[in-house]
Amino acid sequence: MARIRQLPPGVVAKIAAGEVIERPASVVKELLENSLDAGATHIDIELEAGGSEAIRVVDNGCGIIAEDLPLAVTSHATSKLDDAEDLFRIRTMGFRGEALASISGVAKVLIQSRWRGADVGAELRCDGGDLYPVKPWGGAVGTRIEVKHLFFNTPARKKFLKTVATELRTASETVTRLALAHPTVGFSLRHNGRTVVEVPGNATLPDRIELFFGSEIRNSLLEIDTGPGETRLSGFACDPAADRGNAQLQYLFVNGRWFRDRSIGHAFQEAYRGLLMTGRYAVGFLFLSIPPDAVDVNVHPTKSEVRFRDNAAVYSLVRGAVKQRLLKENLIPSLSVPKGVADTETPRRESAERVVAPWETAKPDATLPFRFPTQPTVPRIPFPNPVRSSAKIETVPAAPLPAVAPNHEPTPIDEPSEEYPSPSVPDGAFQLHDSYLVLETREGMLVIDQHALHERILFEQLRTRIRDGKLEIQRLLIPEPIELPPVQAAAVVEAKEELATLGLEVSDFGGNTILLSAYPALLGKKSPSKILLAVVDELVSKERPPAKEQLLHLLMATMACKAAVKAGDPLSQDEITHLLMLRDMAEDSHHCPHGRPTSLLFSRSELDRQFKRT
Ligand code: ADP
Ligand code: MG
Repeated sequence: MARIRQLPPGVVAKIAAGEVIERPASVVKELLENSLDAGATHIDIELEAGGSEAIRVVDNGCGIIAEDLPLAVTSHATSKLDDAEDLFRIRTMGFRGEALASISGVAKVLIQSRWRGADVGAELRCDGGDLYPVKPWGGAVGTRIEVKHLFFNTPARKKFLKTVATELRTASETVTRLALAHPTVGFSLRHNGRTVVEVPGNATLPDRIELFFGSEIRNSLLEIDTGPGETRLSGFACDPAADRGNAQLQYLFVNGRWFRDRSIGHAFQEAYRGLLMTGRYAVGFLFLSIPPDAVDVNVHPTKSEVRFRDNAAVYSLVRGAVKQRLLKENLIPSLSVPKGVADTETPRRESAERVVAPWETAKPDATLPFRFPTQPTVPRIPFPNPVRSSAKIETVPAAPLPAVAPNHEPTPIDEPSEEYPSPSVPDGAFQLHDSYLVLETREGMLVIDQHALHERILFEQLRTRIRDGKLEIQRLLIPEPIELPPVQAAAVVEAKEELATLGLEVSDFGGNTILLSAYPALLGKKSPSKILLAVVDELVSKERPPAKEQLLHLLMATMACKAAVKAGDPLSQDEITHLLMLRDMAEDSHHCPHGRPTSLLFSRSELDRQFKRT
């Protein structure tokens, strides 16, 4: 057995760094928190290559006294805590005195700062823990910190860094949280020389929410405020119509600090009980202010988890206040409308009992079909209309199709070719509730979910063509400009190649606008921008699978879902026949890409049995 010895400080620093500094976003978080603690009213953040090449944070805070500079990068050195008692009334973001020491142990750091009481500033360089002498610096009051080549001396850690797009996404998320929590501080975030987001100091909280999440979310904000008191809940809950497929847009803050907490998240979600479909999540921005001694923020190295002295009280405060607010909007009573009525009048607010797929919950203007009952020839649905299938269209491999103007209906290229055996489509198939197809088969009665089936078919077509490199794309004569929330715009630009694989060609138009110039032809005329938006939503979601293969699967499923006919879309007899023909050609016509069944069989023998014929 080897002798026990104390580890050299460099090793200790690297171990400690591992706890707090996982990736560029962790550096961004620590630097921004220091700037906020220093009373900065404006903070500029600049990243290169998602932050793994360089992170620069410039603030106009109080600055650091020149002779304290070496202490700033020393472990357990802080200006924010005097004694252990202070630990229980923390009002600053930092207090461990460890962040700068950790960062400078695993990167090349340059700190330049001028304390507000000094005529001239000073700078200190620290490379992987090696300190250089302090030198004078001629900058303005405030602090500028540059962190380059993160993990240059810990290659094992560097290997865990993800793609530039992913690192940028997590770093932007960090900025988002802090900019929401500090609504009087201005922020700007640039990546590789491009502005990602610019938050003016005087932007209100709703302004900020719009900057980060777009106008749809802003327009659905419902203000909450329980009023002054020891414990207060304020902020916004969103109309359930703005729901999402994951809980990422549930932002919780306590005393100006973002936190994650299953139980409080659950309380928020519970307030929406009955208003959301299974698997859908409410959106909200909730700010708790609570006496500092009633919450412990020192339970997690990155302080992202907290412990409340009285968790049950916080739980009911959140659930109660949000529920009250939703009641005021008259959202809850609509639930008690008899089911049949609710189905036609307010399809979104029906009881959670009926199994309703997520696509049915999208905004009415986005997905409810046009109804032209007297003009059956008006194109209504995106999948190829069999009426035109007599004009034989061949599958043109790879060669780009002729350009068309935006919104022009693309040429259907998706017809079954004549080499397929003519599938047996029963004559008597009919549509039920504009959602289901009913047909007689040898085994009994088959009920098909039109959306799930069409989604499956489109998914398989996309998959086969992408796999074989034969995905035809439809070029737009005039590329469609799409304005996105900044974080999403940046994610699209970074994921350009992944998107091109899927047949979505995008380019950066500057600002937060991107240009969509091509999309997969087989997806038909459903608004290509809506398909792109759904894919982007998936791309910036944290719950995306890490493996490329799985991600591709997910994105293809998303595209298929967006482009497919919806429940509620009326279909003509020809369209029904055509869809059923494609069904016979699908590899797996029994499940949609999300794994739900596309059809249910009521067997002849079961019908006989139920009617007591046997
Ligand atoms: P902590 O924030 O927990 O005190 P850090 O390692 O993050 O520990 O920072 C060490 C010290 O350096 C801080 O306590 C603070 O005095 C000083 N400091 C760091 N960044 C800044 C900044 N941007 N402006 C002013 N002082 C700073
Ligand atoms: Mg700190």
